[in-house]
Amino acid sequence: MAIWNLGSINADMVYALPHLPAPGETLAASGLQRFLGGKGANMSVAAARAGAHVRHIGAVGSDGLWARDRLTEYGVDTRHIAQVDQPTGHAIIAVDAQGENLIILFPGANHAIGADQVSAALTDSDTGDLLVFQNETTAQVEAAKLGRERGLTVCYAAAPFSAPAVQAVLPYLDFLILNEVEAAQLQQATGLAPADLPVEHVIVTLGSKGARYHQRGQVAAEFPAHKVKAVDTTGAGDTFTGYVLAGMDRGMPMAQAITQANRAAALMVMRPGTADVIPDLKEVREAAL
Ligand code: ATP
Repeated sequence: MAIWNLGSINADMVYALPHLPAPGETLAASGLQRFLGGKGANMSVAAARAGAHVRHIGAVGSDGLWARDRLTEYGVDTRHIAQVDQPTGHAIIAVDAQGENLIILFPGANHAIGADQVSAALTDSDTGDLLVFQNETTAQVEAAKLGRERGLTVCYAAAPFSAPAVQAVLPYLDFLILNEVEAAQLQQATGLAPADLPVEHVIVTLGSKGARYHQRGQVAAEFPAHKVKAVDTTGAGDTFTGYVLAGMDRGMPMAQAITQANRAAALMVMRPGTADVIPDLKEVREAAL
């Protein structure tokens, strides 16, 4: 089986600054590092590292071919990543000496993905494949509908969170994953607690407390996180999701997929960085946690 990921691809540009700039101030950065980022790319890398066959549907500009190549190096099938006449999505991240940051996000090519591109890609899909998307690209609703029509398992990682975005795809979902704050926001908007949503599988991630799994009509199950020293939690959620999807794709019971995802995410919070440092399955299985 395969995982189809309609997902964002970003260049994360990290500038080191003595302090964060004030309005009107010009500041020279003492360093610049460029990383592969975007929730979509992170999830593709995580699922591929977990051993899944991942096919990414996305877009980059001519300035982002390195990002597509990087995904290929990490084992992601990139033939459905289009090159478009737009800048590649990027995040300009300023970090001061205390580690405080300021982020400007530009979606760029991630917002140039059309329904036609998604439907052309999914003509290669098979019944039973997984389709996942997040809230950083266009064509989400069309993808969800098409996924449902084609008999794919439709999964939504509801981040960055928007209640209307979730509500627009809710009728097509088999699987929804969101964090505790987002679950509360969704409940406020819809009046529905996670257990009452019309979705077969709902996972609520709880940060250092782990994750809660609601299967429709069943009592929720809790999966505690590993007790580790957290140095950088960025990418933990995306890694968790990628590992859960890879487990589902392999036909693992959900409890086993979540247990493995908790291990992978625990390793992620112990190290700085995102896509480039996501652990592979061997490391996740063998780590002493
Ligand atoms: P992100 O910060 O990546 O956006 P998120 O809000 O999507 O994260 P969280 O609920 O914060 O998701 O975390 C996802 C998973 O990462 C948790 O379910 C858990 O497995 C792991 N995790 C997060 N923080 C910690 C921690 N401090 N210690 C151990 N595991 C953690």
